[in-house]
Amino acid sequence: MTSSTEPSEFANPPMPPRHGIYNFSAGPSHMPLPVVDRIREELLDLGETGIGLIEHSHRGPAYSDASAEAERVIRRITGVDESHAVIFMPGGATVNFAFLALNFLRDGGTGVYLDTSVWASKAIEEATPVGNVQVGFNGRGGDEFTCPNPMLDGADIAAPDDARYVFYCANNTGEGTWFTEPPRTNLPLIGDLTSDIFSRPWPFADHAMTIAAGQKNLGAAGCSVVIARRDFIETASRSIGPILRFADHDKAHSILNTPPTFAVRVIGLMAEWTEAQGGPEAIAARNQLKSSMIWKVVDDSEGFYWSRASRAARSGLNVTFQTDSADLDARFLVEAKSAGLENLSGLAGVGGMRASMYNAFPVRGAEILATFMQDFARRNG
Ligand code: PMP
Repeated sequence: MTSSTEPSEFANPPMPPRHGIYNFSAGPSHMPLPVVDRIREELLDLGETGIGLIEHSHRGPAYSDASAEAERVIRRITGVDESHAVIFMPGGATVNFAFLALNFLRDGGTGVYLDTSVWASKAIEEATPVGNVQVGFNGRGGDEFTCPNPMLDGADIAAPDDARYVFYCANNTGEGTWFTEPPRTNLPLIGDLTSDIFSRPWPFADHAMTIAAGQKNLGAAGCSVVIARRDFIETASRSIGPILRFADHDKAHSILNTPPTFAVRVIGLMAEWTEAQGGPEAIAARNQLKSSMIWKVVDDSEGFYWSRASRAARSGLNVTFQTDSADLDARFLVEAKSAGLENLSGLAGVGGMRASMYNAFPVRGAEILATFMQDFARRNG
């Protein structure tokens, strides 16, 4: 495991595609090749122990070191101190949306949700059977997908007196929109950062909790990084079992039961890779380059391509676009695939196309997609 002062094997920019394929998948998604290579080595032998990564006991020193190192790197990147816990929670984001409601809504009070996406709606769906839910903002009511940018002030968020928290989804993976900064509120703020963690500087310490599932900028699915204020998670319901309580996972150093050891190690390697790239600030500039290239093709296409994402909330990671014809969209996807541009179809329920370009996605892939889109528009416009 590397310390921050050693030159890192991960210092190179994102690697070229494998087999000539650019994978625009929304998640799980493109991984940096040096990280994949390292995982391959560690599957056979973790840290010269003679035992492979997924064969180590979660209570032994090799795994404990890997988990502790992952936590240290995440703390450096996010800037949170010991007032916040960094927990490797079992399951993906939706599972943790359910945990959130069970922890804080079961004994009364209301969860306020800013409904800007399919994933925010999923969080609402998990909370509704558990307690009171109020939608504080609806960004999916009309034809356009929006986020409240410039940001809502606390006073603008519809919240009852018994509100326990305000939940928002920072980057709306399916809709292609994002919050340009977190909502302002005096209530405990909960952010779903599943698709944008480490992609840009973000004030983690100002949140009561952030939830980010693996599978994108964190690598493998099966685990979520939950960063939470310790005094907040102590206020959770006592009428749920320990395995559902964030505070119990924190006190057990994320080994309350057998954790997803593989996913935690991959998260640690992705965090090291993030640091070696220069951290979220440097990565944000590269992400901006990629996404603006594709948004520009949409804007310059004279209406051939258009997007339901509102301009003020355009995501810097997931670019959504479509043509006026579902048949043409289908042809776009077939031709793109044969050109090596894979997984460009939009989220079910949104339709059209979506180019997901997370931290590890190479700039070259965005250039090739931009050229392909221009050529397709010329041939079919
Ligand atoms: N939130 C966001 C922003 C997502 O992009 C996703 C998955 N794409 C989820 C939540 C759901 O994650 P999971 O499948 O791990 O429950």
